[in-house]
Amino acid sequence: ETFERIEKVEGKVGSFVHLRKEKALEEARILDEKIARGEKVGALAGVPVAIKDNMVSKGDITTACSKILGNYEGIYDATAVKKLKEADAIIIGITNMDEFAMGSTTKTSFHHLTKNPWDATRVPGGSSGGAAASIAAQEVYISLGSDTGGSIRQPASFCGVVGMKPTYGRVSRYGLIAFASSLDQIGPMAKSVEDIALTMNVIAGADDYDATVVNCEVPDYTKFLNQDIRGMKIGVPKEYFIDGINPEVRQIMEDAIEKFITLGAEIVEISLPHTKYAVPTYYVIAPAEASSNLARFDGVRYGYRSKNIQNINDLYVNSRSEGFGDEVKRRIMIGTYVLSAGFYDAYFKKAQKVRAKIKEDFDRAFENVDVIFTPVSPSTAFRLDDKKTPIELYLEDIFTISANLAGIPGISIPAGKAQGLPVGIQLLGKPFGEGDLIKAGSAFE
Ligand code: GLN
Repeated sequence: ETFERIEKVEGKVGSFVHLRKEKALEEARILDEKIARGEKVGALAGVPVAIKDNMVSKGDITTACSKILGNYEGIYDATAVKKLKEADAIIIGITNMDEFAMGSTTKTSFHHLTKNPWDATRVPGGSSGGAAASIAAQEVYISLGSDTGGSIRQPASFCGVVGMKPTYGRVSRYGLIAFASSLDQIGPMAKSVEDIALTMNVIAGADDYDATVVNCEVPDYTKFLNQDIRGMKIGVPKEYFIDGINPEVRQIMEDAIEKFITLGAEIVEISLPHTKYAVPTYYVIAPAEASSNLARFDGVRYGYRSKNIQNINDLYVNSRSEGFGDEVKRRIMIGTYVLSAGFYDAYFKKAQKVRAKIKEDFDRAFENVDVIFTPVSPSTAFRLDDKKTPIELYLEDIFTISANLAGIPGISIPAGKAQGLPVGIQLLGKPFGEGDLIKAGSAFE
């Protein structure tokens, strides 16, 4: 049924870069036999799921939607992928994304465009645009995305699905092709908060292969579903309700706040004074880390190698020049610049200090509130033919990137439609407060 559905809609949407039809059907058949024998099966037994093209899966082609990875085949499973397999989920395919997760439209993918299932003239958002579209188009039930500055939450909002970025250190990044290692987190996208909770139960937790995963207990996230939220304190930061938000999006936010009040939550106005520095801080730190992480793609070790080579220098320069797309090159150049000896103090070091201030804003706010309420994005899904400049696009990330800089969890939940296009609300939580997000989110949806 899953593949029939995909056959029917995939031509219009383009969520996937690679389907695992034969492997998936074979895995499902083996699982069926296991069930028939009465053997114990995992928590996601038989659930059709998808993974983003930046998570390796043994024997599957993984390209981060970049030409430079060519036909690179995973030689091991990313931990999150391994955990899905161990839970007996069936991986249906690999989803489209912006090249190396740099973007918010999925248009920088080397492969093809993904269209928003609600309106084929619009983007699905990004960088996990294929993942969001695969849920919205009802191709799979759960998709893993990655979020460095909003890449799970923004496409979830644009496609009308739920997406969670866990706390930095909650889910292993082992086997996730690194973009910005201090910001990246893998997280689930699904139709409901319940499916998010079920997936978090499977993918969260310590991993010997990723020392940044915090070894603290993983609660049963389903315990937070359908709880009474009376008395829960929800902070609304005044810096997030600025000019430039689409008026219909703003109205949906106001209605959502009313709904939380009706549910018995207490709304508290808060201030996150360093919010205005979040975009410039992120666009120094993320490219800096990316420029270092992407140094490994040298034409020698992975995927693509230029044919036009006379000497070793050509091998590097031509393979990288031909293999990376424009946005990736832009970020490598910004990153190497801000890390260079002459500019390190002025940019990278300064950005690290501001990052600490942004984190302190949240620490202070969470002394008084349980969760923080914000929009996910100032607008609805952009038109596919929209010619925003890179800086205009970066500014659209204003509401999502602070969570990555501070390392805190965030969830995007559908809250309504503006001119027929989905709009999500964002809830941000304390470090390892995913349970609070599931509690507030499940009461809201
Ligand atoms: N839009 C942001 C960027 O382009 C976030 C991407 C992400 O979270 N991977 O960097």
